[in-house]
Amino acid sequence: MNQNLKIQNTLTRKKERFEPINPPFVGMYVCGPTVYGEPHLGHARPGIVFDIIFRYLKFLGYKVRYVRNITDVGHLENDADEGEDKIAKKALLEQLEPMEVAQFYLDKYHFAMDALNVSRPSIEPRASGHIMEQIEIVQKILDAGYAYISNGSVYFDVLKYDKEYHYGTLSGRKLEDLLSTTRTLDGQEEKRNSADFALWKKANPTHIMRWNSPWSEGFPGWHLECTAMSTKYLGKQFDIHGGGMDLLFPHHESEICQNKIANQTDSVKYWIHNNMITINGQKMGKSLGNFITLNEFFNGTHPLLEQAYSPMTIRFFILQAHYGGTLDFSNAALIAAEKGMKKLFAAYPLIEKLKPSDSSNETIAALYQNCLDAMDDDFNSPIVIANLFEAARMVNSANDGKLTLNQENINLLKAIFDDFLFNILGMKMMAENTSSNGLDNELMDVIIELRKTAKLNKDYATADAIRDMLAKIGISLKDTKDGVEWTAGG
Ligand code: ZN
Repeated sequence: MNQNLKIQNTLTRKKERFEPINPPFVGMYVCGPTVYGEPHLGHARPGIVFDIIFRYLKFLGYKVRYVRNITDVGHLENDADEGEDKIAKKALLEQLEPMEVAQFYLDKYHFAMDALNVSRPSIEPRASGHIMEQIEIVQKILDAGYAYISNGSVYFDVLKYDKEYHYGTLSGRKLEDLLSTTRTLDGQEEKRNSADFALWKKANPTHIMRWNSPWSEGFPGWHLECTAMSTKYLGKQFDIHGGGMDLLFPHHESEICQNKIANQTDSVKYWIHNNMITINGQKMGKSLGNFITLNEFFNGTHPLLEQAYSPMTIRFFILQAHYGGTLDFSNAALIAAEKGMKKLFAAYPLIEKLKPSDSSNETIAALYQNCLDAMDDDFNSPIVIANLFEAARMVNSANDGKLTLNQENINLLKAIFDDFLFNILGMKMMAENTSSNGLDNELMDVIIELRKTAKLNKDYATADAIRDMLAKIGISLKDTKDGVEWTAGG
């Protein structure tokens, strides 16, 4: 097992050597989607980021239990403690059973993640399937004296918690600031302090998702499900808890409070947060008109998109940035990513055809090691990709006869692609992303033959029309003494 793997600890901002709490088992919990809408870019990044962490840990020989929950109850609008449940609202709107809404969007989410080649987690538990576990945790926190009942709802007592433990360890937020800036909202009068958060909410008469509890007929608070399901499937302490940066506060900060009281421990060793995505420099939002679903990317149907982008282009683009940095989507950046990806895909089949020589080349072993070092350095995928480009350059030089490699080096080059590009980064060569699959060539032969026939028949209008139509899709024809050559993507 690789002993160099270092993960950044969000709490200390330091990279620490990774040793599983229960070796060789690694427990990883990632906050999954709230299934009430079309999957979009905001789903793609955590899906892919935690997928490469999952893949790399397995590559190193760890056993990994990866739990990614499905939020199908309790997530209210604006992430607040008041307002409508996101799924219940959609269900009312579309006259569906809430679980029909959840299933419909969960299927879409799975379809998109499969297209992006994101591995399915080990367990995908649903919040609505763990109501009993959530009620038990509320009772534990009440028994410990860190929660109070108010009008049938139960709230976590943040002020009391802060006196004993420090509140805000993850987000760095100070309780005094929160208390002075939080405005009074409807229903806040049930709370002793505005910073308190709901563990259980009494359902109002029109609320359709409701369960019996010792306090009222109601539903669990949003943060509670992750404490309940991570404890159930990974234990009171586990290795990695992930999610998008937007979940850091209040969601994950609240989980820390719940875990501390219910489990009497700091449950999570490493918090990992992927940074957010912007589109042309702007935050993505429905009101800004730049909210692009994954399907729209795959089909190129959104007005902001100049073309369709394959799932592998999206995946490659996301991996070209470290998970901790922001990432800006634009057509230019996506087209550049697509070109780079195709370069790597085009180099791979050439490796098999290389003729081995006797001379050896040390740099290839170093390239493999660089990729390992980059993954060990807090999953630094952009550095891995830079080394893959270098490997592709060497394949091309060897193919052009400018570089000679022995069989061992050729095998190592292949291993760099197999292990890092395909296995760990999870890239997949698809017909639409490779120009060397043969079909393009055969189709072009047919078109060139038709144009030749038109010319022979002196039908120059048709011959020119074929040339012009090809030019429109980026294919240019050149008449040479050996026939017609074509180039794409000029
Ligand atoms: Zn969560």
